[in-house]
Amino acid sequence: MSSTKESVSRQGSIQVQTDNIFPIIKKFLYSDNEIFLRELVSNATDAIQKTKVLGSVGEFKGSLKTPKVEIKLDKEAKTLTVSDNGIGMTAEEMEKYLNQVAFSGAREFLEKYKGVEDKQTIIGHFGLGFYSAFMVAAKVEVVSKSFQTGEPAHRWTCDGSPSYSIEPATRKSRGTDVILHMSEEGEEFLDQGRVKRILTKYGSFLPVPVFFDGQQINNTEPAWTKKPADLSQEDYASFYKELYPGSFEDPLFQIHLNVDYPFNLTGILYFPKIKEHFDVQRKKISLYSNQVFITDSVEGVVPEFLTLLHGVLDSPDIPLNVSRSYLQADANVRKISSHITKKVADKLEEMFQNNRSDFESKWNDIRIFVQYGAITDQKFAERCKKFSLFENLNGSFHTMEEIQANLKEAHTDKNNQLVILYSADPEADHAYISRATERGYQVFKMSSPLESHYLGHLEQTHESVKFARIDSDSPEKLIDKGIEVPCSLSEEQRTELQGIFESLKGESSLSMAVENLSSSDMPVTITESEFIRRMNEMQQMNAMGGQAFRMQSAVVNANHPIMLSILQKKTEEDKKAVAKQVLDMALLSKGMLKGEALTRFLERSLELLK
Ligand code: ADP
Repeated sequence: MSSTKESVSRQGSIQVQTDNIFPIIKKFLYSDNEIFLRELVSNATDAIQKTKVLGSVGEFKGSLKTPKVEIKLDKEAKTLTVSDNGIGMTAEEMEKYLNQVAFSGAREFLEKYKGVEDKQTIIGHFGLGFYSAFMVAAKVEVVSKSFQTGEPAHRWTCDGSPSYSIEPATRKSRGTDVILHMSEEGEEFLDQGRVKRILTKYGSFLPVPVFFDGQQINNTEPAWTKKPADLSQEDYASFYKELYPGSFEDPLFQIHLNVDYPFNLTGILYFPKIKEHFDVQRKKISLYSNQVFITDSVEGVVPEFLTLLHGVLDSPDIPLNVSRSYLQADANVRKISSHITKKVADKLEEMFQNNRSDFESKWNDIRIFVQYGAITDQKFAERCKKFSLFENLNGSFHTMEEIQANLKEAHTDKNNQLVILYSADPEADHAYISRATERGYQVFKMSSPLESHYLGHLEQTHESVKFARIDSDSPEKLIDKGIEVPCSLSEEQRTELQGIFESLKGESSLSMAVENLSSSDMPVTITESEFIRRMNEMQQMNAMGGQAFRMQSAVVNANHPIMLSILQKKTEEDKKAVAKQVLDMALLSKGMLKGEALTRFLERSLELLK
């Protein structure tokens, strides 16, 4: 049986080399000082978790039934207290842990980051632990009683100078109270609302009950800590609501991550309906370490495209006290990142294989995500070839492989390239589309802010495939099969026609091209070079600015009967008048006839009807 041990009183000096280390660090950390609360509550939680560990090996024999961390404010005394009923500390342990460890940690921190420019990014992630209390407190008292039988309670006090004292104290049961006497900088943390918000931010999913203001603020068993087999789809949906209380849309589906070798990672990633708005939903993945919230900027931990997803990742193996560039180079982080990418690809492929029609129904909501992934991540690009879909104008979905097989016959041009036709706006492109379908072609629907990048990517990875927007060339040349269409005009007539249309150009940058199309095609069609347009779109997307340079042509159909009637008009003036009317009709149908030109066109049309 152990006898009651003696209390101790002593004074000493904290072991630091620089006497004025406090003011330096205080200033250093000022902008993110709220993390002191995260650190103290984490320490309290750890102290309770340790009783469970010791209990399981028989070293701790007390009750494990009512673990509790409590935060209290006393506005009058200007104190904030974090209490726990964990393992507590003996006088020796206080000396050892609260002095040497904490302060040497701080010194190391200063030495390591001497001369680092962007200190803020490091500090946000740097758990300075117990020491961070001095960012907000003028004096810190720790009253603790160890779980070990017969150990008396002690009070450790330090006023922010390198000297501290330890003296006997009274505390009935095991555990620790960390009492912060707030400094002027720390007074804001005596506000009930502020403290509640910080606790909710960092502590909502801590593994032991945390109380503030008489209420438990956390869910100690968040969904990601459970086994996937024990969760229903409703459980996942309600956890999503718990994470994003204001959200009015349910996620599409989720991936539950659960790895313990060679690194530790748990989490749930939800697929939101991304649709077209692909910038607005970032910062919705939160990173936790053993259920303590660390940050919601996970760039560096997961590939950029995955930041479009929502949810939580929890890994004690992600180093939190380092800069982003270091993070990206860390071997564990790289493994975690590629593991997550693989899991996401696995999930999508499995959904595609198991229930294709369901996958198709979700496709338009995840399309941008997959495209973005394919453009930016080579491994993912390789994986998503299997389940990336293209929707044609009849609403049926095809993989690239299927398109290559199905359209080989009809869509291969004279250079042996498979030309995939698409429209970004089937409504506006109606005339172009009907001419293509008349020729037996299929047209696909493609409209996303990423299209130009994505199509370029596909053309690079599929050598014999080329994409052409439906208005990028005349119907004969969209898929150029090298077949000459005979011309119903003589060589002189063609030259004259070219001249008439050239004379109508005026200020516009349109180029005029007389071509032999089918007599049932439109007399004039406006086309726009695929290459130049995509280049423009990419520039705009990358916000490179600059005047958009457009390369548009008016394709004049030499075989349309109206061309002959133009040529047969008596005067030059009459020829130009009809040609102008026909050109304006083409511009009008492309939405390019505006302002005065439109008014004049309407006037002329009325005149003709008289
Ligand atoms: P870290 O938590 O990273 O080890 P800290 O500076 O936060 O560093 O704490 C130093 C040590 O002090 C802890 O490892 C722990 O042994 C001890 N300690 C701090 N707070 C408590 C507490 N509430 N109960 C018991 N021990 C504590």
